[in-house]
Amino acid sequence: MSKKLTQIAIYGKGGIGKSTTTSNISAALAEAGYKVMQFGCDPKSDSTNTLRNGEYIPSVLDLMRENRKVDAHAAIFRGFGGTYCVEAGGPQPGVGCAGRGIITAVQLLKQQEIFEELDLDYVIFDVLGDVVCGGFAVPIRDGIADHVFTVSSADFMSIYASNNLFRGIQKYSNAGGALLGGLIANSINTPFQREIIDDFVAKTKTQILEYVPRSLTVTQAELQGKTTIEAAPNSEQAGIYRRLAKRLAEHTVSAVPSPLSSSELRAWSAGWATHLIENERALHARESDFVGVSDGH
Ligand code: ADP
Ligand code: MG
Repeated sequence: MSKKLTQIAIYGKGGIGKSTTTSNISAALAEAGYKVMQFGCDPKSDSTNTLRNGEYIPSVLDLMRENRKVDAHAAIFRGFGGTYCVEAGGPQPGVGCAGRGIITAVQLLKQQEIFEELDLDYVIFDVLGDVVCGGFAVPIRDGIADHVFTVSSADFMSIYASNNLFRGIQKYSNAGGALLGGLIANSINTPFQREIIDDFVAKTKTQILEYVPRSLTVTQAELQGKTTIEAAPNSEQAGIYRRLAKRLAEHTVSAVPSPLSSSELRAWSAGWATHLIENERALHARESDFVGVSDGH
């Protein structure tokens, strides 16, 4: 009997940690015994790198440029824990539509019934999130993904990209598009970053799946060309990625988010700016009080 395949799409601003987080999720799921494919949908084709000891793989579009008829198996490479790695690829820089790689790659694997053949439990699409173009919306729009997640830090531009994604999800939701599972909060190291991201998910009616701190362990693992799960399996950070992967595996019900309009988002961020500035002033005032007291003794 064939098991149920769950397809997950992970979006977010460029450089925010999508590939790092996705690769650690894939590694943790593989470690837990699941059959996982990580499908890189960034024209940079660097999604699966740390699952393969820092080795880059040819993308589907690379192979198609060499040969019009491609056997999909030629684009699938094994990575850590038996994960299957695919990179959709993109056009040469500055030429053509960057989203085309996703459409072409997804079609190729579907036509050749690869997901069924490999009897996968999860396909995780790692998708560039700040370009709103048809190609990048494919996993959402065409109902390919069962659940969509976004990776975001507490920085405004990252939240802005997630809010744009929420708009896309909302727009396609009436036409059978994929729904939002939640937000993976990355690089959260201070209480105020946590408060900001908590407030954003509350306002947009979604949830946080996990808080992932920015960590030197991740940097060290990446420099070795590895995921944290592989390079530092006993680290605290690996534990956090395992917990995140478990939450993702247990997630069942996604929903339509409530994105903020541009003016609402700006008013919201201005409110936070005022709050943070006041907090800092209060902190400085307390510090100078403290100095005053000690000076007097
Ligand atoms: P994206 O795929 O969103 O473009 P990456 O996953 O490539 O982003 O991450 C960009 C950089 O940030 C990488 O060098 C990565 O190691 C680093 N990074 C991401 N998340 C963390 C984290 N939690 N701790 C430390 N470094 C991180
Ligand atoms: Mg990436």
